[in-house]
Amino acid sequence: MKNSLSDNGVTRFLFLISSLLVACEPATQRVVDREVVAVGSQGEALYGKTGSYWPADANGFTVIPVCWTTANNNSEKTWVRQTVEEQWDNNSSVRFTGWGDCDGNTPVNAVRIEVDDSNPRSFVGVTSDNPSMYLNFTFANWSTSCNDAVDDAWAPGDDREYCIRVVALHEFGHALGFYHEQDNPGNTPNTPGYCNNTIVQQTDGQVITQYDPDSSMSYCAQWNRKTLSSLDVEGLRKTYGVSPVEFRYQYSPFPAACTLVNEPNDNNHGWADNYLCTAGSEGVTWHNSGLPPLLTKRCTQITEVLDLNGWLDNYICVPTYSPLQFTYSSLGPIAGMRCTSWNEPADPNNWENNYLCYTQKLAFSPAGKILGTHCAELNEPNDPNGWKDNFLCSDQAEGLAFSATGPITGKRCTLVDEPNDSAHGWGNNYICVSTTSTLQFQWSNTGPIPNKTCVAWNEPLDSANGWSDNYLCY
Ligand SMILES: [Zn+2]
Repeated sequence: MKNSLSDNGVTRFLFLISSLLVACEPATQRVVDREVVAVGSQGEALYGKTGSYWPADANGFTVIPVCWTTANNNSEKTWVRQTVEEQWDNNSSVRFTGWGDCDGNTPVNAVRIEVDDSNPRSFVGVTSDNPSMYLNFTFANWSTSCNDAVDDAWAPGDDREYCIRVVALHEFGHALGFYHEQDNPGNTPNTPGYCNNTIVQQTDGQVITQYDPDSSMSYCAQWNRKTLSSLDVEGLRKTYGVSPVEFRYQYSPFPAACTLVNEPNDNNHGWADNYLCTAGSEGVTWHNSGLPPLLTKRCTQITEVLDLNGWLDNYICVPTYSPLQFTYSSLGPIAGMRCTSWNEPADPNNWENNYLCYTQKLAFSPAGKILGTHCAELNEPNDPNGWKDNFLCSDQAEGLAFSATGPITGKRCTLVDEPNDSAHGWGNNYICVSTTSTLQFQWSNTGPIPNKTCVAWNEPLDSANGWSDNYLCY
């Protein structure tokens, strides 16, 4: 290793353990993550730090301010932001926001990043420290193989860019409250994927998923991946959930159900690639040249009267049976409703104060709990097709609970059945509410029930077994 070491106890301790790090890395890989495991009084799955997670806001998002304490390096800062948004944000309710210079307007709790040529490291979870994260852009002293004029095979593309992205993905996992995956108690000798590398017993550690040898939070996998592992995503969603409804002007439409909401006459102002995304399959449709036939749809006009480029005949619609109730506002968010900003920043015609607001009494999510609501996990352990991250969520506390082994004593329960999937344990599953709930459920495995409000109970990975036309109605 060509790393130069500052003369303090912490780095020398790490130098001693760094000889262990090499063992579990591919022979061709010369990068060593010599990150500090603990900064100050805090350390850094998924394996999380109990009580360190960032809070949800009223609209179902986890908004985390980010700023830089170091000027310049705009290309490198863009790589960091892209990686974080594409991976941590786009897979969950998390929205790292801001990304400008740290100043007096930065909220007390924020991720404050300093750029220097030392070992990257971060506080774990909610923090007000300044800085709270260190990132390396030059690699002149630390992990010099990231920037040594040799194009290494382990770093596809430009080595330095690859290293910056990989490290950012890992450090922002710490910022979200996740420890190193090798600290997960499931990481034990003689088990598959054992990572023999700086294992630290975390007294406040929380096991969120089973041990994941492929986690971007593991020293034994970090340098091999610039995307989250599937268990990283599962743990992220178990911790932070997904957002209920969101207008997106820049993200790829993953993983939620997204509907293109374009206005062809306003393409010059960025309206060709905007999406409205919902956590579950809500049957949202978009109409940019007048109302559709209304027998089966309930529509809400989307208009900005100061924009003359085609915005007089646009509608967002849901099926008439949907629990989703939209209200549009060109004058700011509506008190008492959840709202998503309907804004295309590239359009100068007055969109910054527009919001799509909604209520949603009940929602099904095939990809994690819906943040800020009351959710019941819907797992049928005998079904291998995507059921381990499904949730039914209500806006009010209804005492929702799911059983894969018959009705629940003391609750009012409704059979949830798909006869085509009985081989995977379906037949004695029940969704239940407290006896004081006003919800009176009816189940249908053959489409929505007329004159009822219905939620699609749809796991896309299990549609071959009959799950694409099932509804819970009330
Ligand atoms: Zn780390």
